[in-house]
Amino acid sequence: GLVLVLAEDQTERRRVEAVRRDFVANVSHELKTPVGALSLLAETIADASDDPEAVRRFTGRMQKEAARLTSVIQDLITLSRIQGAEPMAEPADVDLAHVVEEALESVRMAADAKEIQLVASGTAGVTVLGDEGLLVTAMRNLVANAVAYSPERTRVSVTAAVTETTAEVSVADQGIGIPPQDLERIFERFYRVDAARSRATGGTGLGLAIVKHISTHHRGDVTVWSKEGSGSTFTLRLPRPQPRVRQSPGQ
Ligand code: ADP
Repeated sequence: GLVLVLAEDQTERRRVEAVRRDFVANVSHELKTPVGALSLLAETIADASDDPEAVRRFTGRMQKEAARLTSVIQDLITLSRIQGAEPMAEPADVDLAHVVEEALESVRMAADAKEIQLVASGTAGVTVLGDEGLLVTAMRNLVANAVAYSPERTRVSVTAAVTETTAEVSVADQGIGIPPQDLERIFERFYRVDAARSRATGGTGLGLAIVKHISTHHRGDVTVWSKEGSGSTFTLRLPRPQPRVRQSPGQ
């Protein structure tokens, strides 16, 4: 008994340590890549100072790399604040329609550029329990992915359904989908189905890890359904405010 427990304990400690090392290696890589690109671009610009067109092009690329660096850092800050946080002690009443509107607003430009239609339904009048800012962050990550991993002229729809105790808000796309063997892992930090495509679309690989931690912090959860080539649906389940005093019908 005891020896086995100790051995299991050690295995668990090693596993945690390995995960931590992977995380640090991933963070370093994600930060070093844009910084490396920035210094290379700066050198190139210095050499091309007599060619205004080249200077313009390379400065544009520098801005892109700087923006990428900012979003990696922003996601790391969000993740470090939320992961390991206790479930919320005093959640507030939050208007779901407002959360969804804010999230859709933040991807409107990207959606327009690909002529992707954004639609929301069933969210009116639905109240959930939580932190509005965090819920907007979670929703924004889900709709940003839906747009990023969908081809042009498709539709992204956000729908809400309620039960007595919970609200389920789903983000459905008609995009590339996710292979079954990756479905389990996409919520891990830095896990990407296709690293090249994810970076090209501006992804940090942290979005879904953030969504998952936010859902747990709300005593909710997030699930995914997906079919390669047809699309994906992510569903966030959140608690709803409960009446303090129950009255039986007819009273
Ligand atoms: P990223 O910043 O790479 O998008 P995420 O954590 O948000 O990181 O997502 C992890 C991976 O899951 C993505 O790299 C992508 O491969 C896959 N993924 C997430 N959302 C979708 C979606 N709506 N459709 C297809 N693939 C998705």
